[in-house]
Amino acid sequence: MCRLVVFKGTCPHCSDTFTWDELTQELSCLEAKNNGTFGLCKEGTLVDEKEHDQECDACAAELEADEGYAGGTDDALEALEFAGAGGKHKNKKQRTS
Ligand SMILES: [Zn+2]
Ligand SMILES: [Zn+2]
Repeated sequence: MCRLVVFKGTCPHCSDTFTWDELTQELSCLEAKNNGTFGLCKEGTLVDEKEHDQECDACAAELEADEGYAGGTDDALEALEFAGAGGKHKNKKQRTS
């Protein structure tokens, strides 16, 4: 059986759902390989949907344009929040004497 791996998810900026065609993978089984065409086999194709959130092309282009001017302050903030969200343990050195 052939597998078609499809990446599908939401753009975090405009909240639209997209299928990332450029990431789609066609995994032919031996039979399909012998036939020379993906999906050309008795069992047919299994569609394997993977979750994949990514900025859509429009938002990515917008972000890229923004970064040219503003220097990406949002990213810095997000990085800080991310570091804080982990519930970091303070790593005190303990001496056993
Ligand atoms: Zn197949
Ligand atoms: Zn978007």
